[in-house]
Amino acid sequence: MNGGSRDALHPCMKCGRETPAAALDGWKWCSDCRGLVVQRATHLARWLAAVVISLAFAAWVLLRPEGPDRFLMVYILVAGTAWFFLYKLIQRVAFEIIRGRKSTPAS
Ligand SMILES: [Zn+2]
Repeated sequence: MNGGSRDALHPCMKCGRETPAAALDGWKWCSDCRGLVVQRATHLARWLAAVVISLAFAAWVLLRPEGPDRFLMVYILVAGTAWFFLYKLIQRVAFEIIRGRKSTPAS
């Protein structure tokens, strides 16, 4: 069988390893290279999101109006939710940035 392009091997744009075309992503990266970037983006996102939330928390502690601390629980819940979405957003953005920076797609 002279198979279609799906089974053909293509070099990964990043490491050059021959990889089945079906396993390459939109950037023609193999899953290993993609996994590395995802890992880096995930670490960066966790760290950045934590810093942002910590700063927001510090600002809140400094600027909060006088009053009972019962809002602390609400704040922690909101901060947790915000952290999650921020983390996801940063991860997504960092992934694109890291990938774009580490290689030059064929032009
Ligand atoms: Zn690769």
